[in-house]
Amino acid sequence: MKFDIAINKLNGHDQEGKVGKINKRQGDSVKPGDTIFTLESGKGSIKYESEYDGKIVSLSIDEGQTVKKGQIVGSIEGEIVQKKAAEKQSYSFGMAKAKKEIHDVDVAIVGGGPGGYVAAVRGAQLGLKVAIIEKDRMGGTCLNRGCIPTKAIASSVDVLRKIKDSSAYGIEIDSYTLSMSEIIKRKNTVVDTLVGGIEHLMDSNEIIKVEGNAQIAGEKSLSVKTKKIDATINYKNLIIATGSSTFMLPIEGSDIPEILTSDTILDIEEVPESLTIIGGGVIGMEFAFIFRELGAEVNVVEFAPEILVLLDQDVVDVIKVAADEKGIKVMTGAAASRLINSENGQIITVIKKGEEEQYLASTHVLMAVGRKANIDSLELEKIGVELNGRKNGIEINDKCQTTNPDVYAIGDVTNKIQLAHVASHQGMVAMENIAGLDAHMQYEVIPSAIFTHPEIGNVGMTEKEAIEKGIAIKVGKFPLMANGKALCMGEPEGFVKIIAEEDSEQIIGGVVIGIHGTDMVATLANLIAEKRKLAEAQHVVYAHPTTAESIHEALLSANGKAIHFG
Ligand code: FAD
Repeated sequence: MKFDIAINKLNGHDQEGKVGKINKRQGDSVKPGDTIFTLESGKGSIKYESEYDGKIVSLSIDEGQTVKKGQIVGSIEGEIVQKKAAEKQSYSFGMAKAKKEIHDVDVAIVGGGPGGYVAAVRGAQLGLKVAIIEKDRMGGTCLNRGCIPTKAIASSVDVLRKIKDSSAYGIEIDSYTLSMSEIIKRKNTVVDTLVGGIEHLMDSNEIIKVEGNAQIAGEKSLSVKTKKIDATINYKNLIIATGSSTFMLPIEGSDIPEILTSDTILDIEEVPESLTIIGGGVIGMEFAFIFRELGAEVNVVEFAPEILVLLDQDVVDVIKVAADEKGIKVMTGAAASRLINSENGQIITVIKKGEEEQYLASTHVLMAVGRKANIDSLELEKIGVELNGRKNGIEINDKCQTTNPDVYAIGDVTNKIQLAHVASHQGMVAMENIAGLDAHMQYEVIPSAIFTHPEIGNVGMTEKEAIEKGIAIKVGKFPLMANGKALCMGEPEGFVKIIAEEDSEQIIGGVVIGIHGTDMVATLANLIAEKRKLAEAQHVVYAHPTTAESIHEALLSANGKAIHFG
């Protein structure tokens, strides 16, 4: 039978793409899964793989040629292989042979998250031969189950919030329909586009990509065995970037299959009627604001005396007021001690607050109590890689080198700071050291972005940390309700706070809680990293009208000289 080769998949809403590498030509034999060619667009690359066992009869494309959606570019003569049947056969009779591969590389990286893939690109830039092994999808937690999907959903929620508030802007919207499945679909499109982009980066940087679970095979080699491949990767240096996974509290009932994790809630097709979130940290609070806005009854149960425990109290207070106004119920100093699947389909969370026991029924429960480093992903003892003192992450020095000097570890698996940009920066530092440069990690000026509403950008020392360390400080603070742009946008909640050493006036910390806070924090990070003093920073001119002007005002306020407040 003859089958058309048609341009039937493109990135997002693209209507055309550019032909990248052509792997098969007219007359070549193809098997199912063989890449015929790749299609490139601004959003990444897509592989066109054969679904047939046969021969390419015609293929009328050239590398670099633009092709349009729906265009027929060639044909294959052959048979459709029933995928399931083929897999079953290979399983039952052991007929299919895994393809043997041997790769000799300078650096092997296990894990294709923001730590691993960034390290890979940096290695290629430095002229190293790099292989990256990923058992799931490139992009890791961040792209597939973390930063990006949550923020894609949060962006849909921003639209919803504006629709609900539209009359305050002079626009009456009579009706609207909310579709959780469409929100998830949009999220998936964003994720797919970015994952495609990473795949493209691996190809364009000529990084060897091996799909499967990496295992330690010898002192300097890894093996990956799947149904498709039997690969050996011999390396001079290894980077472990295996990331982290969701963690379930070891309490009775936590194995109830319906209990949601941050992985599973990201694919929920309907808004829960009621949602109990166990954990009032960053992930828990982000989901609390998302699902409350979407219409769920939300309760947050936090064991610590306060939510978002690392932040200054004035920041937490703004979030608590916002949560209260939205109808998010927060219980602090409360331990979820048991989960019970009730007969009416609800889940009961048993909460212990002091001696008291309370019962909270909800249709859904989300466990958001932190993440565990994937330290068991490889048999670390075989290569002399040791864990840290708390045994919850791989021990590394400031060059990201483990106790085996040829092996580096980066990202969540080190449990230093579990953030994507920390993983990426560690990846660059590790690779630069492998390439013979002298790079070091500094953890004092790491910004964090929290997507509650209002959002928070925090960097450097908090006020409470400075006080605990006995550092005499000056604090400048400026409320966003006195900022013109924030008022225009109808987002007056929050403030900018600058912390400087009292005598030297060197800026050592800062926070922006409010609209654009997660972007504005970059300016504060620069001021702190460059050890700027208040007087130097106060002389920089900020454009008007912008929310960033409130940084200028907070800098001035540290010397009691804010212009628009006080
Ligand atoms: P990961 O991203 O976890 O990647 C590790 C990869 O290694 C995985 O793809 C895994 O499949 C692979 N792997 C593991 N073992 C093997 C093996 N043996 N063989 C082959 N492959 C293997 N961070 C932020 O900075 N900002 C945010 O807004 C943010 N939001 C988040 C929201 C949520 C809901 C969650 C869960 C996390 C969020 N994070 C955020 C944290 C961020 O996702 C992580 O810090 C980041 O992904 C860590 O990167 P990594 O490369 O160390 O590991």
